[in-house]
Amino acid sequence: MARRPMMAANWKMNKTVREAEEYLAALTPRVEADAGDGEVDVAVFVPFTALGAVGRMAGDSSVMAGAQNFYYEDSGAFTGEVSVPMLLDLGVRAVITGHSERREIFGETDTLVARKTSRALTAGLLPVVCVGETKEERDSGGMWDKVSKQVRAVVEGLGENASSGEVADRLVFAYEPIWAIGTGDTATPDDAQDAARKVRDLLGELRGEEFADRVRILYGGSVKPENVGEIMARDDVDGGLVGGASLEAASFIELVAGARKGTV
Ligand code: PEP
Repeated sequence: MARRPMMAANWKMNKTVREAEEYLAALTPRVEADAGDGEVDVAVFVPFTALGAVGRMAGDSSVMAGAQNFYYEDSGAFTGEVSVPMLLDLGVRAVITGHSERREIFGETDTLVARKTSRALTAGLLPVVCVGETKEERDSGGMWDKVSKQVRAVVEGLGENASSGEVADRLVFAYEPIWAIGTGDTATPDDAQDAARKVRDLLGELRGEEFADRVRILYGGSVKPENVGEIMARDDVDGGLVGGASLEAASFIELVAGARKGTV
């Protein structure tokens, strides 16, 4: 089945409001001109402080304003947290859940990631759920043990939700081997394809072929304009989640062009 490619920028803890505005002013018209036909989904995951500006500037263009984090409760005594209704209020359309930096630095568990993902889906947001193994886990043959647990927790946490095709069209996984994030070391296209295929097979086992076929699976880990083409060319890889190489608008525009590979 043809899945629409997706290219997503993760700015992490970078950019002031003014820098965010300059970036969007460069990116949005280019994406509208080149991908306004909806060939590629483009999302920019920005810090909370820039979300108001980015949500306003992206509007309902082909660029989705995305949040890097949120909490699954809607309001209450959760100091320092931001809720889904607050994000919707700013025009946010996509969120990241389970990024390895949130798991490793801020202690987010599989259970928390599952609850956040489920909340995002019920609110109509598009969650990009990150999964991936450390170098040690890979070297000791534990890659699939780790990744399959992460995927299972999310899918099992969806409950009833998961049977709907509409949910499958919005649910996105990103296979991001931790050893490849921000290191310049990229997984080979074969490794990216192999992991994406395994994730898709597991989705099929858990929720059926049709569901698995509709869910998009991205690769993340030192993707750049020079390697995006060969990674995107693989059957089960539907796009990229990009940190470092997304920080310059010009480089991200090239990455978006690289995601436009026709039928995926
Ligand atoms: C990321 O932040 O998810 C990421 C993949 O970063 P980088 O592209 O810098 O490796």
